[in-house]
Amino acid sequence: MPELRKDPVTGRWVIVSTERRKRPSDFRFERISSIGRQYCPFCPGHETLTPPEVLAYRQNGSAPNAAGWDLRVVPNKFPALQVEGNLDREGEGMFDRMNGIGAHEVIIETTDHDKTLATMSEGEIERVLWAFRERMCDLRQDRRLRYILIFKNHGAAAGATLEHAHSQLIALPVVPDFVREELDGAKRHFDEKERCVFCDIVHHEVAAGRRVVQENADIVALAPYAPRFPFETWLLPRRHASRYEEAPRHEYESLARLLKSVLMRMNRALESPPYNLVIHSAPFSENAAEFYHWHVELMPKLTKVAGFEWGTGFYINPTTPEEATRVLRAVRI
Ligand SMILES: [Zn+2]
Ligand SMILES: [Zn+2]
Ligand SMILES: [Zn+2]
Repeated sequence: MPELRKDPVTGRWVIVSTERRKRPSDFRFERISSIGRQYCPFCPGHETLTPPEVLAYRQNGSAPNAAGWDLRVVPNKFPALQVEGNLDREGEGMFDRMNGIGAHEVIIETTDHDKTLATMSEGEIERVLWAFRERMCDLRQDRRLRYILIFKNHGAAAGATLEHAHSQLIALPVVPDFVREELDGAKRHFDEKERCVFCDIVHHEVAAGRRVVQENADIVALAPYAPRFPFETWLLPRRHASRYEEAPRHEYESLARLLKSVLMRMNRALESPPYNLVIHSAPFSENAAEFYHWHVELMPKLTKVAGFEWGTGFYINPTTPEEATRVLRAVRI
């Protein structure tokens, strides 16, 4: 059973995974990413290589855990957290810990081993976004869980261990620190101005235009004013809403279109970089409806996070967001 431990100085929670325990010599294997479709557990016909599916979009009545699907969601075979058991909180002298209750799932986005989110059709991407929503709606009924993070690692340098297009979902019994920082900041802004800080950003950036990469009827893609990483891009809905899983269907359609377009721009401008994508949405356990605003963060992996960043939490970004916007906008797609 994995375990959550709290750092007594900063209050930061860490997942200590016993299942995934590694000896020092195991770490180098983490980098292997190209196994080819013959042995790929995410390719059709290999359904028995994954745990049984928890959701699948299938063509006319094909049997579960067999070929005939378009998209599958399965529990992670090597979960960072596990879903069975009671959530037990306990102290150990001055320290706090709880057992690692949660869920860790893999969304297999396509049957095609060679497709990426950027080369999928808009309809296929929309299907992926819809699957995120369905899993979130299902898991939020579990009262032990407080937060669900959907994320994607694309490319070995961004942490992907399999090349077949997939995203991941981790449901946690605590609200993660980065989300907590955003919640606290957004709450402060709201208390002072009675406005959502993300809505303010969208209004300001759309009017000013300098950092807007692309926009459509529902979603705006922009370079944040103070990005941590070169070409960091946020995709925000124009309509204020705190929860991703409650968005109307047309917003997923618009998000799919814009996401594809931004990824294609990055692929052309930056030679198909590895990237991480995360969806930030309000926690289930608290009411952030007025001041929080769901969004997608897209971070191409172009620089290495090193000693200064680890030691300070300061990021050094060698590319201005205005320059990144110019470059991405100039790409013909
Ligand atoms: Zn595959
Ligand atoms: Zn808002
Ligand atoms: Zn965020």
